[in-house]
Amino acid sequence: MSLFYRTRLSRALVPLFLGSALSLASARPAPTKTPAPSAPISPLFLLGAGVGGFVLGAALGAAFKKAPIVQAEAPPDLVFDLAPSALAIVDSKERLLSVNPAWHTLLGTQDSDSQAFAPLLHPDDLAPVRIGLLSIFDGETPVYEREARLFRPDGSLVTARISARKQGEKSKPDTILVGLSDVSELAIATRELEGARAAIRSLYDVMAGDKSANLDAKMKSLLSMGCGRLELPIGALSRRTKTEDGRDALETLFVQSPDRRVRPALILPYDDNSSEGRLLGLDLMHTIADWRESPCVASGEGLTYLGAPVEVNGKWFGMLSFASHETGRSGFEANEVELLGLMSQWIGSEIEREEARKELERQQNEVLAANLKLEELATIDPLTEAKNRRAFNEKMEEEWSRATRYGTPLSLVLLDVDKFKSYNDTHGHQAGDTVLKQVALTMMAAIRTTDFFARYGGEEFALILPNTDTQGALVLAERLRARIEGVAWSERPVTASFGVATLHEDMKQPENLTRSADEALYASKNRGRNRVTHAVEIESIEV
Ligand code: GH3
Ligand code: MG
Ligand code: MG
Repeated sequence: MSLFYRTRLSRALVPLFLGSALSLASARPAPTKTPAPSAPISPLFLLGAGVGGFVLGAALGAAFKKAPIVQAEAPPDLVFDLAPSALAIVDSKERLLSVNPAWHTLLGTQDSDSQAFAPLLHPDDLAPVRIGLLSIFDGETPVYEREARLFRPDGSLVTARISARKQGEKSKPDTILVGLSDVSELAIATRELEGARAAIRSLYDVMAGDKSANLDAKMKSLLSMGCGRLELPIGALSRRTKTEDGRDALETLFVQSPDRRVRPALILPYDDNSSEGRLLGLDLMHTIADWRESPCVASGEGLTYLGAPVEVNGKWFGMLSFASHETGRSGFEANEVELLGLMSQWIGSEIEREEARKELERQQNEVLAANLKLEELATIDPLTEAKNRRAFNEKMEEEWSRATRYGTPLSLVLLDVDKFKSYNDTHGHQAGDTVLKQVALTMMAAIRTTDFFARYGGEEFALILPNTDTQGALVLAERLRARIEGVAWSERPVTASFGVATLHEDMKQPENLTRSADEALYASKNRGRNRVTHAVEIESIEV
């Protein structure tokens, strides 16, 4: 029988087989003799044998309906000895009363070795297994199963599925049959698969989790996810840079380091061999192309390290590093290396996106600034750099509606350079231009920022005075008139005539205010120039 299982069973099926072996060994003399089946053995059969257990022939019959069943007697001892699974009979004091050859093969032990079961178990698994066995001895359950790690005499570990089953008919048995099936490879494969799945899930969570989160926030959660998965406390993304004296170096950008020994903005040259340098993998960096073949890994005295280069736009940007000061782990599983590769790829593309986003933002700002400049240019008079007539009209509308809505005062001053035609004629157009510039400068220097000064046309200027009543406007206009007159003009004295108007309730639109100011200005000209007239001083106010 056992020979048959050994040749037919694949490793993956061993745990399934164990159940049937246990049943077989714990059974009364089992009917065994069977013909060689013509088909490969089915797990269904094994399960059937494991569960049913007492009549192997019947179980075989269930699996191979067409096979003739021949029953025969086989001594239980022989079944125990020949079973391919490791079997032991354990008493309530956890002593190994008897073990089969497969037990020794699996655990690398000999008959002369310790006869106790507990010392074989990994400390982390000891308590639950003990409780499980006790529950059989106490009659709470007839069977107990668990995966556990057991030590070989050479110190290596075997991951095995423990299947324990009571022996005999008593409800509280004196002995238990314990079977072990080596699931080390299976355990690793399963753990790797689960690890890889969990890693991809958590990476996905970070990537897709909060789309609005910025790179900083994403990098932080990525580093802490990596530290958690790799069981290494320190995580860092560093970029390649130069030291002040021009040596190649790495600079930390994002760091997770509970003891704060590795900090952000730490710059370490490639040849630095401080412990911080080693935690950043300075001595282990290699090119991206090589990394797939040999990841950057170190596990030695006081250091465990796993790192990967990060590529941005096809260039080596820096390193993603996870490390610990502890000697700790002896190596990394394939899925952990795979995860690191995914993380570094993701970081690379996030940085690419961030750089593209910044570049776009920069370009947009440039366009915005250019547009603002254009807009400003469109409202400025190029000769005097005062606001132009268009800007004046807009401002006038704006102030008009504000003043009429809130009932606040609003005044307008118009001024016109006196006898300017003759100035041009005598001193030339260019000298005339200089005078206009100087008039504008003088005005702009004398007004408040809330006042709005514009070139109204030719040698005429306008001043909008929000929150300024008749009296205030007159005082200001008189001051401005005196200022212009007071300039040390180079060719000949220059003066200007002023017309002032203030909003009153009869006025229906901005033009009324402008016209009033214009009439007042005309009055100033008529009265001899270089003077100020307010619209209220003249009788013919047109509304
Ligand atoms: P009044 O005292 O009555 O205002 O006499 P005026 O000569 O100033 O009046 P008029 O409107 O007849 O002449 C305006 C002159 O202003 C005519 C024009 O040559 C001059 N002028 C208008 N714009 C400019 C300019 O941009 N540069 C120069 N240099 N002169 C200008
Ligand atoms: Mg004029
Ligand atoms: Mg004039």
